[in-house]
Amino acid sequence: MMRIILLGAPGAGKGSQATKIAAKYGIAHISTGDALRANIKNGTELGKFAKSFIDKGQLVPDEVVVGIVADRIKEADCVNGFLLDGFPRTIPQAEALGKLTDIDYVINIDVDFDLIAARIGGRRMCSCGESYHISTYSSDVCAKCGAKLYQRADDKEETVKERLAVYEKQTAPLVDYYKASGKLVNVDGNKSIDEVFASIVKVLDGND
Ligand code: AMP
Repeated sequence: MMRIILLGAPGAGKGSQATKIAAKYGIAHISTGDALRANIKNGTELGKFAKSFIDKGQLVPDEVVVGIVADRIKEADCVNGFLLDGFPRTIPQAEALGKLTDIDYVINIDVDFDLIAARIGGRRMCSCGESYHISTYSSDVCAKCGAKLYQRADDKEETVKERLAVYEKQTAPLVDYYKASGKLVNVDGNKSIDEVFASIVKVLDGND
């Protein structure tokens, strides 16, 4: 059983690593950000509610995301485990999660703050879940599904500033919270996607 939390600031590379980890270990990739964006796209009540927070770079209330995760981890594709990407983001979310399930690994992707702006500024997304960076990918359509790439509305500069402030205040304390549990492993996220992935695999395969 592999139940993993991926921690890291916006732009640390959680989404890219999550996709690779989930594929390698056959576990479910659960991204609360993706789930919220899917609700916005489908025009649900939850999506409308969440959008007002997301557009400002603020966090959606804990109850909303805890509800999403509580339902999601019960689904059939979580039998071998799951990887949480972007959840928990506050101490109360971590406490709620602790009541729902045990966790086997907490991986914190550490990235220097001056790298984050460039990473987020150049990020382009596809509605299929793929993401790209303009420094390594020059086409404006997705290599996987052919759809047109777009920039996330909350990736614009003013909103990124607020998201980083929110991260420092509300999410960074989770590093100490999980350090205390003895399950936290720090991974240097300042390297390429493949190098960071190799470090994570070492941790998960017990060779670090
Ligand atoms: P992400 O795709 O993980 O960067 O999330 C995008 C936005 O969705 C965040 O800036 C928050 O507004 C919201 N969000 C995603 N996950 C959470 C969470 N665990 N708690 C609160 N808000 C969240």
